Amino acid sequence: MPSNPYVWLEKSLTSIHRANWYRSVKTIDGLTGSTVVLDGRKVINFASNDYLGLAGDERLIQAAIAATREYGTGSTGSRLLSGHRQLHRQLEQAIASLKQTEDALVFSSGYLANLGTISALVGQKDLILGDRYNHSSLKNGAKLSGATIIDYGHNDIPDLTTKLHQYRSQYRRCLITTDSVFSMDGDLCPLPELLSLAEEFNCMLLVDEAHATGVMGATGAGCVEYFDCTGRELIQIGTLSKALGSLGGYVAGSASLIDFLRNRAATWIYTTGLSPADTAAALKAIEIIKTEPQRREKLWGNVKYLQQELSGLNLLPSQSPILCINLSSPETALKKAKQLQTAGIFAPAIRPPTVPTSRLRISVMATHQPEHLQKLVTVLLENSALLI
Ligand SMILES: *Cc1c(COP(=O)(O)O)cnc(C)c1O
Repeated sequence: MPSNPYVWLEKSLTSIHRANWYRSVKTIDGLTGSTVVLDGRKVINFASNDYLGLAGDERLIQAAIAATREYGTGSTGSRLLSGHRQLHRQLEQAIASLKQTEDALVFSSGYLANLGTISALVGQKDLILGDRYNHSSLKNGAKLSGATIIDYGHNDIPDLTTKLHQYRSQYRRCLITTDSVFSMDGDLCPLPELLSLAEEFNCMLLVDEAHATGVMGATGAGCVEYFDCTGRELIQIGTLSKALGSLGGYVAGSASLIDFLRNRAATWIYTTGLSPADTAAALKAIEIIKTEPQRREKLWGNVKYLQQELSGLNLLPSQSPILCINLSSPETALKKAKQLQTAGIFAPAIRPPTVPTSRLRISVMATHQPEHLQKLVTVLLENSALLI
């Protein structure tokens, strides 16, 4: 009897359902911003990474339209093969200037920036030491590289030090990888300590500034600036898709690092260049980040307000606009997210296997109005018995 090689898919989906791990996509309507239309109803948006409210900003929209008119919709091929636009280099120079690095390289997404960079920098003779809570793209980049991978405890400097003493000498190169703002927790990596260890043990250090760019630091350059580590030698990854309101990723660092990646990063070489619209929108966003610090001030004011008002709940420690309320189970998290939606608030339940414990994730924006924040506080505190 011929067997069907695809029946396992249904079985697998059934067990995903049974564990309450099943995910589905919600459709939203209207211009993206601090409110969106979800299931036909206007809700306050706490589910977006658009921290500065730039994804719906008229200036980014106009920049994308103008670039599309001038250059067309697509970049038509790999930049090495088909050529790139002046815009691509302008964006890379703007990123390097924001980050105060020698150069930068733009990828089609932050995920691809991590895959391409990590797999170009280390191989089978090498070691990667990564924070246990690192983003999926850092973990999969490590796997793709073929290097030996050892995780250290989350932000656990003593554990990392022990592992460096134990393993570093057995490998050629060593790369330490970490999120700078942890995307599902909102806390920060101990960057100065990581830099000292990297120097002491002759390791490269890669920090993923995806949630920090535009948000952390006086000029929005990220956690490297926030921790006063600007100019130190390290590898910075980031995305154009969060506070920059566009799409794409980047690596920033020394001129030789970037030159090397242009020659060795497969996820940059063998993929089509960023579209003119995405490139122009990101370039405009960097200009706004530099010239409108009041957006960041507004954002931090909103974060402080919520942290104070919600201090009675089981909040995970956070030093960023990502605020998480810890919950006992995936069922509770799903139930709570549904209750919020009924009350007109969009905030996702984050569950295993993405994170070790279920939680409600609230992402604060500069463009949230006082009444948006008050509503969230009221609804959360009303049913707080469920949350503790
Ligand atoms: C979102 C995110 C990425 C991926 O960036 P994209 O541009 O969306 O692919 C990478 N790393 C971290 C830490 C992230 O939060």
